[in-house]
Amino acid sequence: MDYKKYITIVDDWPKKGVRFKDITTLMDNGTAYKSAVDEIVEYSKVRNIDLVVGPEARGFIVGCPVSYALEVGFAPVRKEGKLPREVIKVDYGLEYGQNVLTIHKDAIKPGQRVLITDDLLATGGTIEATIKLVEQLGGIVVGCAFLIELTYLNGRDKLEGYDVLTLMQY
Ligand code: AMP
Repeated sequence: MDYKKYITIVDDWPKKGVRFKDITTLMDNGTAYKSAVDEIVEYSKVRNIDLVVGPEARGFIVGCPVSYALEVGFAPVRKEGKLPREVIKVDYGLEYGQNVLTIHKDAIKPGQRVLITDDLLATGGTIEATIKLVEQLGGIVVGCAFLIELTYLNGRDKLEGYDVLTLMQY
């Protein structure tokens, strides 16, 4: 499917110079959303996934329907202060300043095979931090799936050695 026609590009949002890829217009279309989820489900089936993990908030939009279809669990990765029980955390650099991501300490059992999902791969910082959290808990990252990849930001360089699926490239 030509998914790009369902993506709305918003120039200069959230700040000047950014071409924001809005996936809500893809989610609005039941056929396109289902088709994108189905592709990630097919990719995941042969990888024997035990658990899907995604960073807030758009990683949930991609990951939760995939986990539902695979009949495996979903573990959320969230910003500091959002998860109610004991967490592990990782700091990572943003363009300006630092961000902290957390996951519940008991979210992953050692040896579980994990699929990581997000809407978009840009610099790869978010997914690199998510991988660190999964691996610290003993999870094995067997795939990373995104709707969109911004190839000019070279996020794949941070994911060397990992299996990556992206449905659209800009
Ligand atoms: P990064 O850590 O640089 O790979 O950034 C990934 C996160 O930032 C993703 O979860 C996206 O939701 C968001 N993001 C970065 N750039 C864009 C963009 N141009 N359009 C939409 N979302 C973006």
